[in-house]
Amino acid sequence: MRRGIWPEFDPGPVKKPELVDFALQPVMEALDSVERDGELPADVLADLGSGGRFGPIHRGVRRWAVHATRNYLAAYPPGGTDSDGISWAPVIPGWMYRRRFIPPDRRGIGNYRIRVWGRCYRSLDGRVHEIRVPTYSSAGRERTKAEEAVAAFIVASAGADVETVRVREFYCLEGKAGHLLYEGSPAEVVDFHREVGAPALASVVNSTEYRPGDPCVKCRYRVGCRGLPAAPGLLGIEDRRRPRRTWSVSNGRYYRACPAKDHLRRSRLPTAWKLERSAAAERGRSIHDHLHVRHRHWPGVPCAPDEEPMWTSEPDGAELDAALLMLRQHAEVCPLRGLPTGAEIRYEPSLAFDDTNADVVVKVEPDLLYTDRGSWVWREVKTTRAASSRGFDSLESLPQIALAVLVLGRQLLGGDRRQSRVELEVLRPNGVDLRQFDPFSRELQQEARDVIRRLVTDWHRDEEFAPRPGPECARCEVRRWCPDALPEESA
Ligand code: SF4
Ligand SMILES: [Zn+2]
Repeated sequence: MRRGIWPEFDPGPVKKPELVDFALQPVMEALDSVERDGELPADVLADLGSGGRFGPIHRGVRRWAVHATRNYLAAYPPGGTDSDGISWAPVIPGWMYRRRFIPPDRRGIGNYRIRVWGRCYRSLDGRVHEIRVPTYSSAGRERTKAEEAVAAFIVASAGADVETVRVREFYCLEGKAGHLLYEGSPAEVVDFHREVGAPALASVVNSTEYRPGDPCVKCRYRVGCRGLPAAPGLLGIEDRRRPRRTWSVSNGRYYRACPAKDHLRRSRLPTAWKLERSAAAERGRSIHDHLHVRHRHWPGVPCAPDEEPMWTSEPDGAELDAALLMLRQHAEVCPLRGLPTGAEIRYEPSLAFDDTNADVVVKVEPDLLYTDRGSWVWREVKTTRAASSRGFDSLESLPQIALAVLVLGRQLLGGDRRQSRVELEVLRPNGVDLRQFDPFSRELQQEARDVIRRLVTDWHRDEEFAPRPGPECARCEVRRWCPDALPEESA
């Protein structure tokens, strides 16, 4: 957390401006140009589509941004009235809540500022304040009550005449306003905020927890941070001239399929649901979720073959039977079996490492970490309907395992090295295999380094992420946004 301390910071070599990585940013800027500057929507959309303005934007993201901006302007034409007959004036930049404490409060902070992200409007008579939060699509996560309360509180604090405060979402993909998340008078807002908003804010401000990941890319406090261990050379690349970014094995996989696909997925553009959620992928996800929930629920009790599954989402049809059989097999190799008392367990922890040689934040989420006599053991689980686990024989097909070998082999998690190992659990309907990898084996280390370097090298030098149309287009979840996608019938 920032407490007015600004460390001396060496940003390294000057780099080319990076492609815009937050795909709602150009949408917001284009809407500002129309609503604040009075530009014609057709001109703004043309500039957005051609890349003439709004920053270096990938062609696929531009396509998305034009779609989203056009949808918003169709739903809320500038200067028009909405379906309730209210005419609105935009408030740009949006509202911000400030509070000063003299002397500083018990945390030692004298100045709080909370900005609400979204499009802010005041009715022309000033009696209604509304915030519309653009989201990618209606399939996104639900807002929490705390988020609604804080947003409503900031919106209510922005004027003495306000009588009604509204919070709603706008679904950019579908081009429609979400239902009202909140509507109330300023007095009601204050109660709502006191009840749920303020405690949530206090817990954020008081928290000393580290949540490494995407924010580490731009964080000025990263040097020496406990949440982001330095791991120079983890990816095997010596080049700090590229934009600082995050990388995970999933990025590597998507990039290998098509550079544009990686960029468009990383930009969180809406994906084709049917392709994203194939029955087999869902089965794997359901099993992972079950194991995660079950292990957390009874960490002291190993899984038994006849247990009721704790599905977060139950697999469909034929995949359900296969999944139930796989769970029976899991019981035999459950990592909780034989775990000594006092062993530490970390369930799907989000880990990040700063490869300072490549200037990349490497993100990884092991399925489970546990300690064996003071050494870290890294467990990954794979599921397959195949009769054997031969498909997972080479490290080339197991980049997560390769990365795990490198992380444990460098002792980036600390602990004793003697029992440290990587485990691969392959669940099949008719059996299970548990393989172990010694992260200190020189041969394995070399193989792992080669696998990761091959996966990351081209990605690291790439600053354009051009589409590579080919057979992959047929199963590409982001083809809708891709300017070069092969027609479905020829892909
Ligand atoms: S549609 Fe084809 S070219 Fe476009 S991003 Fe997807 S795989 Fe790449
Ligand atoms: Zn288990």
